[in-house]
Parts: sequence; C-alpha cells; structure tokens
Amino acid sequence: MTYPTQPTASHFIGGKYVEDTAGTPIDVIYPATGEVIGRVHSATPAIIDQALTSARAAQAAWAAMTGTERGRILRRAADIMRERNHDLSVLETFDTGKPYQETSVVDATSGADALEYFGGMAATLTGQHIQLGEDWVYTRREALGVCVGIGAWNYPTQIASWKGAPALACGNTMVFKPSETTPLCALKVAEILFEAGAPAGVYNVVQGLGDVGAALVSDPRVDKVSLTGSVPTGRKVYAAAAAGIKHVTMELGGKSPLIIFDDADVENAVSGAILGNFYSSGQVCSNGTRVFVQKGIKDAFLARLAERLADAVIGDPQDPATSFGPMVSARQMEIVQGYIAKGQDEGARLVYGGARLDRPGFYLEPTVFADVTDDMTIAREEIFGPVMAVLDFEDEAEVMPRANDTEFGLAAGVFTRDLARAHRVAAGFEAGTCYINTYNDAPVEAPFGGSKQSGVGRENSSAAIAHYSQLKSVYVRMGDLEAPF
Ligand code: NDP
Repeated sequence: MTYPTQPTASHFIGGKYVEDTAGTPIDVIYPATGEVIGRVHSATPAIIDQALTSARAAQAAWAAMTGTERGRILRRAADIMRERNHDLSVLETFDTGKPYQETSVVDATSGADALEYFGGMAATLTGQHIQLGEDWVYTRREALGVCVGIGAWNYPTQIASWKGAPALACGNTMVFKPSETTPLCALKVAEILFEAGAPAGVYNVVQGLGDVGAALVSDPRVDKVSLTGSVPTGRKVYAAAAAGIKHVTMELGGKSPLIIFDDADVENAVSGAILGNFYSSGQVCSNGTRVFVQKGIKDAFLARLAERLADAVIGDPQDPATSFGPMVSARQMEIVQGYIAKGQDEGARLVYGGARLDRPGFYLEPTVFADVTDDMTIAREEIFGPVMAVLDFEDEAEVMPRANDTEFGLAAGVFTRDLARAHRVAAGFEAGTCYINTYNDAPVEAPFGGSKQSGVGRENSSAAIAHYSQLKSVYVRMGDLEAPF
C-alpha cells in the first residue's frame, strides 16, 4: 500500500533533502495497520558532520539579521503551516497514529502558534542599559550558536516547532533529530522554514536512533541541547551535555496527580480526567495519570467516566469521526500491556477496558483501574498509554503529600468549586504546570516545563528566550581610569 508519506529523502540539510543509504534503514510504520509506509536511513557520521557544518556556517549571518527580518521569516512559516494544516495533519496521523480529529487542531496549529509567537517576539529581543554614575554598562542579548533539538515521538511537528521557533528567533541555528519512531513530520517543518526564507543551514533535520542523538550532543560544535524524552534518556543527555558545559533544556516524563474533590462538577472533572489520560491514546507527558478522587464523589465519578468512555469512537485515525487511535508502536503497546497486567497482579480493580482490540494495528482499550494504592507500580511509574489509576482520599491534608510523593514534577491538576482551596492546592503542588478545573492546556503564551526530575528550563512564552540566548555585559568608562600602580 502506498501512502503519501514517503519523504523525498531521509535528511534535510543546508536547504535541501539529502540521502545517504549507507545509514541503517529505519522503517516508518503506520500504527493503525502495522504496515510499512516509508523508509528513512539513520544519519551516518558524514551526514551528522554535514548537518553540523551547515548549521555552524549559517549561524553568524542568521544572527546578524535584524530581529524583524528573522521574525518575518518565522511568521511566514507559520502562515504556510496553517495553509497546509490538512496535509500536515494527515501526515502527523500517519507518523503517530493519533486521530485526525486531534492532529487537525493540535499539531501543525500549535507549531504555527510557536512560529508566530516567537516570530513576533524576535524584534523585541534587546539588552539593557545600566547607568553607573557617569559610567555605564549595557547588555547584549546574543544567540548561543548551534542548538541541537531531540524529539520524542508523541508530538513530532509540535516538538520540532517548539524547539525551532525560539532558537531561530534568538539567532541560533538548529539540527533537529526526531524520534526514529516518527521521522516524517520534522522534515516538513524544515521544508516550510526554508520555503519561508530561512537561509540554507538554519534549520536542519537528521534521522537516527539514540546513537545519532548522542553524537550530536557530544559534538564540540554544539552549544545547546534541548531534549523532549524520558527521564532515563534525560539523565544521559544531560550528563553528555555537562561534559561540554552546554546549555540544556530537558522536557522529560511525568506521573502527574489530578485531585478531584467532592464539591467538583462531576461532568467537568470527568472531562479533565479524559483529557488528562486518553487524549493521544494517553501518550502525553503531562497526563494526570494518578487520579485522586475524594470518597464522596467516587461512585458518581466512576459511573459517569464509564458512560463517557463508551462514547469513544475507536477506529481508523484518518476518519475525522474517530476520537481514539492506536498506540504509536507495537513496542509501546507491549509496554503498556505489561503495566495493565502488573496492575491486575498487584490487586488494582480493573473497572474499564484493559484489552487489545481485535483488529490490525496497535490498539488498546481505554483502561481504568480503581482502588489503586500509592505503592502500586501503576501509581509510581510513567506508563505513557491509556491507563488511568484512580486512588481514594479523605481530605486535602492527607492527599497533598501523597500527590507530591513522586520523583516527577511535570504537571498537576485540581477540580473543586472552592476557589481558595484551588489556589492553595496549586501553590502546594510540586510541579511546573498546574491546572485548576481544566487539564492539559499548553498555549504558547504560557511557560511549559517540569520541576524535580521532570525537567530543566521552560519551553514556550517569553521564558523560553532565556534558554536560547545569553547576555553579554559591556562596561563603558567615560573618564580616566585609575590603577593601583
Ligand atoms: P526517549 O527518551 O526514549 O527518546 C527521546 C529522544 O531521545 C528520541 O529521539 C531518542 O531517539 C533520543 N535518544 C535516546 N537515547 C539518546 C541518547 N543517549 N542521546 C541522545 N538522544 C537519545 O523518549 P520517547 O521517544 O519514548 O518519548 C516518550 C517520553 O518522552 C516519555 O517519558 C514522555 O513523558 C516524554 N515526553 C516529555 C514531554 C515534555 O514536554 N516534558 C513531551 C512529550 C514526551 P530514538 O527514540 O530514535 O532512539
């Protein structure tokens, strides 16, 4: 079967597609059928060198352009991305298996938002004037140089854009390595940026597995590394970057709490729990997978949740009516099946789903466990699939330490009608992103990132600028200079 996804070549370097078939072949598998729909080749050392040479060569001239000029290119790229939203969404669905119903409103659109936002901001990036009597200091906000972006497989277009847009706005160039599971979408981001006017070499994409990422991170030509991935990979990449004293942004995993108090609106709380567990078949880093439900609302919550889950339309993800798609890969499906088995072995009560669907592709049912306790594996480890763990609690004082009792700190949510409690709980959460009566929003205007082991640095918003630029202080003496001898 031929899909419109076969890329022109594996890599995009110096403004054009580049191939080197000496690299290990990587099959592109459509998660909804398990069929091979394309093939790319992992970057050879020659390709890695070509990409870094190209990014390095382009950087000075790109940084020397005015912010207005750079911003105009990014905003033009945003417009192209929006015009092509349909095709890009179809591609994202082939790459990841996420339903078109989601990809058409979340992926290229969110990538375009980042390009537009940081494109608008590029012209406003300035230093400071600091008066010291007659003398003064001024600061210059300068690019870091060449940035490496490494992506996870759940949001390939979004991750390539969220990293590329602020990096380029600040005058950096980028070499981006998508996950080998979803190699297609980042190539389109590179193509669009080039078409919008980004000079050759400003945004490059190379394919490969972890070894290619590791080679990029340790290369002395690289000044900054931004990773979206798991905590174990984050540890390795952070350590490799530290060896070269490189700047890092780490967007890592989570096991986030979602607390539902008795006084919450049940319908909204169920919506929040669905958005925080089953969107993208549960493959979202910030998901609220530990759902703490106060005892008085538990039965109503579980009953309504089951009714709403029965409305999920599971099927062909390219059909706009489908609201729940497959897992990204057979491997990820097997990992999640392992956790479902473990939940049952450890005594959690399976109240919904739990099975693989009898159809081609990597489909698992939306799955809910009740009576989960804090020590169970499914309450402690990131599953990254459609598995919700419901835990009981008595009151706020008891639930808060339990909610925070995790090495992760990516996100957290609370549903309650008591406003004072909502803000108190949000303040008490040990997490980078908190939600009150909502879940999993990620607009470009707001900082996004994790605390504790979920990450370092922030993406999106003006906060990202600090992570893609550095300040140079310039001291200016107006009069004569005294010295001790
Ligand atoms: P992984 O950590 O397995 O991989 C992330 C990326 O790092 C991939 O491109 C991978 O390549 C690459 N990589 C692996 N080893 C190395 C290495 N030693 N040096 C450099 N690069 C390396 O994550 P997944 O792709 O499985 O994505 C799921 C994880 O991502 C979850 O933990 C999830 O929570 C997290 N995530 C976090 C987000 C956030 O914003 N905080 C958002 C989305 C996901 P390859 O896979 O090709 O081998």
